Amino acid sequence: MPFPHLFSPIRAGPFELANRIVMGSMHTGLEGREGGLRRLAAFYAERAEAGTPLIVTGGWSPDEAGQIGAHPNLFDKAETAAGHRIVTDVVHAAGSRILLQLLHGGRYATRPELVAPSAIRAPISRLTPRALSGAEVETAIEAFAHAAGLAVEAGYDGVEIMGSEGYLITQFLAPRTNRRDDEWGGPLENRARFALRVVEAVRAALGPDRMLMYRISALDLVEDALAQDEILWLARGLEAAGVDVFDTGIGWHEARVPTVAQAVPRGAFRWATRALKQAVSVPVMATNRINMPQLAEEIIAEGDADMVSLARPFLADPEFAAKAARGQPHRINTCIACNQACLDRIFVGEVATCLVNPRACFETEIVIRPAGAKKRVAVVGSGPAGLAAAVTLAERGHQVALFEQEGRIGGQLNLARNVPGKQEFDETLRYFSVRLEETGVNLRLSTRADAAMLEGFDEVVLAAGVSPRRGVVAGEDHPSVASYVDILSGARAAGERVAIVGAGGIGFDVALFLTDPGDHAHSDPAAFRRHWGIGVEQGAPRARRKVTMLQRSAGPMGGSLGKTTGWVHRMELKRAGVEQISGVQYERIDDAGLHIRLDGEARIIPADSVVLCAGQVERSELAAAVRAIGVPVHVIGGAKRAVELDAQRAIDEGVRLGAGI
Ligand code: NAP
Ligand code: SF4
Repeated sequence: MPFPHLFSPIRAGPFELANRIVMGSMHTGLEGREGGLRRLAAFYAERAEAGTPLIVTGGWSPDEAGQIGAHPNLFDKAETAAGHRIVTDVVHAAGSRILLQLLHGGRYATRPELVAPSAIRAPISRLTPRALSGAEVETAIEAFAHAAGLAVEAGYDGVEIMGSEGYLITQFLAPRTNRRDDEWGGPLENRARFALRVVEAVRAALGPDRMLMYRISALDLVEDALAQDEILWLARGLEAAGVDVFDTGIGWHEARVPTVAQAVPRGAFRWATRALKQAVSVPVMATNRINMPQLAEEIIAEGDADMVSLARPFLADPEFAAKAARGQPHRINTCIACNQACLDRIFVGEVATCLVNPRACFETEIVIRPAGAKKRVAVVGSGPAGLAAAVTLAERGHQVALFEQEGRIGGQLNLARNVPGKQEFDETLRYFSVRLEETGVNLRLSTRADAAMLEGFDEVVLAAGVSPRRGVVAGEDHPSVASYVDILSGARAAGERVAIVGAGGIGFDVALFLTDPGDHAHSDPAAFRRHWGIGVEQGAPRARRKVTMLQRSAGPMGGSLGKTTGWVHRMELKRAGVEQISGVQYERIDDAGLHIRLDGEARIIPADSVVLCAGQVERSELAAAVRAIGVPVHVIGGAKRAVELDAQRAIDEGVRLGAGI
């Protein structure tokens, strides 16, 4: 057995589970959406069929006021419960188990009538909650128990109570959000009463044959919350009240420390779970940034946890457990912790999916079937769009040739992987390399395709990507000028004083690259803790260069960055002393630096290096030449539209096209 600890069975409450991998709770945006349960059934079925023994659903609210998200995710009626049968049946048919997560948002709820222990607005919400009366607290406890009973009727194998991340239960626990002076507030014994009573009531509603999982906040990462000894005290009390398994949560949503983003090294919080495991006797699950089975195995083998809860990795690859069981981690499509297609989409009310797997949550829409007529297809360009198209086409039985002018696959991913914190793109490149080989794609590296070469193919997919935009400032031929490609590829080194022209995603990437303090905070958990001051004194970052970012538009920079990660990048650049100047007009570049005009006044930004990050233009010239020889051409990715290109759109277009030809 390749991962002996991960794949040893475990008793968890009433059940014997075949292995230690749990698909953790994720909001998919399908909860409560029209037709969502049918899509959720297809989503969970693929994961269950691939050997995931236990799945936890996204959050469902036990009462009206606790709902979060754009759609009604209320679970309080028999009719609603009956509708969930479609989900529990498919999971059981695959031999797996599924728990319903009960999540009451409290002051994080997105309904105007939101409630909380005290009327204190969350810093990440525009809505102020109303304080629950004592009688309403009792009603909320009953609502949890009622929902748990309905979950049993719906066929669920139990429930997970969401007791972390800053939602209602944690709001009762922390003095920061609980200023009550009745039996639900004040000393810890009172603040913990709500959590304990919810667990007791839910346990009674479930009976002994169903599982009660409780997601405890192993680390709050906000002021005025619980200290570690208090968390351990609470865990012991919850165990006595009826918890079968502890899942763990790290950080409240309002915490200003990254907890799941790329800035977090793999396994960064396993130490917090270890402390919990030592305090209780029921199984404890480790979470956050566990994206490969090697790490999961290590965490269990070294006694940091009994089980692992992986959420986003199951968006990235439904077959995670099966591939790990077969000892094939190299075949796993790894979650790169970008949040771009999952959490960032959820926050704007869209259905979650995955940057590296656009089929996630779209299983019923993107179906990969064997091709009717097998064709000879040429794909030009091996960036994310071309790679996704090539492997999807080949998987379906087409004969695929992939042309790449460079000596290696990856296109712009080879630049992105050099940005601090984006090293996970290495896994994406590894995954595609394996897939190219498995699917038998004829890879033609160092070959610049021209129309003559493409004659004889039935169809051509043009995924040649983009070229950096030039001609944006006079004096671009000055020796100080470099493009982002030169800098991120390492072909050119930047000087001590740098001006960055353009502040989109790539301008930010370049600024992060040039100011990285070199403390390995993205890869070394101990360095990460020092960098963010988690339980240790925060280290002072050492600015390596004087960097100035510029853009012509007015207003603050970074609006186009991801909702859940943009703040991390902005914070990092602020700490590194990066100056950001908006609303500029570029005049010229010369020996003195970059000449600009700001509010009508001439100004010079002294610079040894000026890095152009002013967007890109499509590389699509080949399309017309190929059409002229009578071969149908499909243009995708950056070659189709350079504006707002990102790897998510590129892979999505590649897979959808690949599924359709
Ligand atoms: P972008 O986000 O469109 O930004 C282009 C920048 O260049 C803007 O700041 C723009 O600002 C400036 N610009 C545009 N035309 C210009 C001109 N003629 N002269 C001077 N400045 C000009 O493009 P990008 O930064 O190249 O990124 C490409 C794509 O990759 C984007 O969709 C981006 O979101 C994505 N990406 C995402 C991430 C991520 O972390 N998610 C990272 C990297 C890239 P002004 O017009 O105001 O001057
Ligand atoms: Fe992971 Fe990014 Fe996919 Fe989300 S979108 S599951 S973070 S790879």
